[in-house]
Amino acid sequence: MSAVPIGQLDELQAYAESTAGCTRCRLAQGRTQVVFGSGNPRADLMFVGEAPGFHEDKQGLPFVGQAGKLLERLLAGIGLSRQDVYIANTLKCRPPGNRDPQPDEIEACEPHLFRQIELIEPRVVATLGNFATKLLTGRPLGITRVHGQEQEATLGSRSVVLYPLYHPAAALYTPAMLKVLESDFARLPELLGRAVEPPAPPLPELALVAGPQQPAEQLGLF
Ligand code: URA
Repeated sequence: MSAVPIGQLDELQAYAESTAGCTRCRLAQGRTQVVFGSGNPRADLMFVGEAPGFHEDKQGLPFVGQAGKLLERLLAGIGLSRQDVYIANTLKCRPPGNRDPQPDEIEACEPHLFRQIELIEPRVVATLGNFATKLLTGRPLGITRVHGQEQEATLGSRSVVLYPLYHPAAALYTPAMLKVLESDFARLPELLGRAVEPPAPPLPELALVAGPQQPAEQLGLF
């Protein structure tokens, strides 16, 4: 778990409150409420989905419908619960009739997501489906091409491991996709471990770099 100063938690809460009246795009007109995100504000693992659906819009929480149930089941499979991770969406407001997010809506909402990432400071960001994946990788490659392939990325001011996954809503109805999602998901603990504990440099190399004449405090750099 990352050590986030208390001030930063307050800042996340304050930021969430500041988005409640957001009118950056047309979705403000049809929503019940902004669905900012939920979970552990200090999470090492953050999920980014697409957009709130009917139930999310009503309850104000992300992934509370069938896709959310599957996400919870997948999390349980790796020994985690919703409370251990942070869950957010690319868009914070429900598109009418659950239509796809439009490019200008994604652009308008992007600062909210980047600020969230900056304040939560996750080590691994798992993107669920095409929209979050294309936005955060900054590349047009679809999820079928890139799922399960982790990459280092700088999001805002934050260096993270980005890990694209199939969207649980898509996997709900396609057993073959569910199998792939399950096996991609099973690698999350490894990615978290890798991100949390970068391998220590082997001792002989350390001695070589530091050298016998180097001042002792330089060792702190490694
Ligand atoms: N619920 C969400 O909150 N986001 C999605 O992308 C799908 C369902």
